[in-house]
Amino acid sequence: MSDCLFCKISTGDIPADIVYQDDDCVAFRDISPKAPVHLLVIPRQHIVNLYDLKADDSALMARILLTIPKIARQHGLDDGFRAVTNTDKGGGQEVFHLHFHILGGGTPHPL
Ligand code: 5GP
Ligand code: ZN
Repeated sequence: MSDCLFCKISTGDIPADIVYQDDDCVAFRDISPKAPVHLLVIPRQHIVNLYDLKADDSALMARILLTIPKIARQHGLDDGFRAVTNTDKGGGQEVFHLHFHILGGGTPHPL
């Protein structure tokens, strides 16, 4: 999507503090961190949110889910972390390209 902020981060057209990338996904530091470690993990493919997932995305999503704890450990989160994906307006989503927040390193907020 040409006008999508996270697509542009994925392609390098907009800079970000990228901490990990592979063929499936890119991880970078949130510009406004809500925890000592606050990363965003996005698929390179433009998927809007969980509502937009198709069965064909299953293998991609499985690979990304397997990658998230590895990225967390690379950032010292060995005692746990939170992975959050806000979905659509009712879920507080502000950037409409699927992303998982990795939050850790502090006292977790109660849900
Ligand atoms: P959402 O509310 O959609 O779940 O989260 C969007 C997140 O993207 C927010 O935590 C916000 O701080 C982050 N964000 C918004 N714009 C940028 C940006 O240009 N660069 C980076 N690194 N993060 C951003
Ligand atoms: Zn996008």
